[in-house]
Amino acid sequence: MGKTFRALVIDKDGDDQVVEERQLTDDDLMAGDVVIDVSHSTVNYKDGLAISGAAPVVRKFPMIGGIDLAGTVARSDYPGIMPGDRVVVNGWGLSERHFGGYAERARVNGDWVVLLPEKFSFERAMAVGTAGYTAMLCVMALEEQNITPDQGPILVTGASGGVGTVAISILAKLGYEVHACTGRVSEAGFLKDLGATEIIDRAEFSDKAKPMGAERWAGAVDVAGGNTLANVISQIKYNGAVAACGLADSMNLPSSVAPFILRNVTLTGVDSVMAPRERRTAAWHRLAEDLDFDKLEALSETIGLSDVPKAAKDILAGKVRGRLIVDIKK
Ligand code: NDP
Repeated sequence: MGKTFRALVIDKDGDDQVVEERQLTDDDLMAGDVVIDVSHSTVNYKDGLAISGAAPVVRKFPMIGGIDLAGTVARSDYPGIMPGDRVVVNGWGLSERHFGGYAERARVNGDWVVLLPEKFSFERAMAVGTAGYTAMLCVMALEEQNITPDQGPILVTGASGGVGTVAISILAKLGYEVHACTGRVSEAGFLKDLGATEIIDRAEFSDKAKPMGAERWAGAVDVAGGNTLANVISQIKYNGAVAACGLADSMNLPSSVAPFILRNVTLTGVDSVMAPRERRTAAWHRLAEDLDFDKLEALSETIGLSDVPKAAKDILAGKVRGRLIVDIKK
């Protein structure tokens, strides 16, 4: 039998979902052409859903959780990826249909693997994780709609969460005026340290939106959907844009076409899971340049593999601030 390694496995016990640490070998891994010694992973909102079973993220049982991983290539049959390469994998069905990052070893499709820019340690890469890389995709989406800092402030919803904190840091470094929408106004000091200049209580966005309100923001990064997103759209300036990536409030969008047809507003969707490799590589290189690593450190905390189930509950309860890094050896 090959060498064993630790893995956090999500399984079914009758109708119940169980999460437990198991010892596996390489023979237990799924097919793939790149084997990775995983160093770090992370806990995103989607990991919270998968581990708790609150939403049907996991499509195949047993499953190793963790939608992100960073580590060193141990073996590769994939052109351009060599043993010793430092790599990151985000999404692509990890923890859904393919074993994810909560294990010391992973075997994945080489198409999914991105070489890490030098500036990133594994820990930093997972402080970014899917949440941070999605924040970068959102910023890129706003730039592609020609939203520049001179056009006015940018609103970030879910400001204290993973996508929100990283989005604030990037936008502030790029010279945008950033307004932070949060349910945790007690975190105002933390959010201002990241670069937000104005804090907005998300209670302001919880009621059904009017078709249009006063024009306030040139753009927005929205992680919430629902009434939150509808209220944001109704207050975007003429020619503005909203990058929508999440559903922390709701999957629904009770909005009106008025902002789109009367204010030329654009709603641009952002998906990180199936984003093509070129786009991912571009996002990771932008993160290396446009993210202040001191701020990244200030918004992240490191936990061990056995802490993940509790962290999963906390993130769904909205108790996690910023980003959680998982040290797989811890
Ligand atoms: P986090 O849990 O870290 O952050 C979400 C934040 O949203 C919370 O911290 C909270 O911030 C805010 N929030 C919570 N509940 C509500 C509510 N009812 N109404 C409005 N805001 C709320 O999650 P992530 O940052 O990891 O992910 C955010 C969202 O983006 C999730 O829905 C996730 O599924 C999605 N996502 C989508 C991706 C894609 O590819 N499209 C990739 C990554 C994430 P505060 O307390 O400051 O208000």
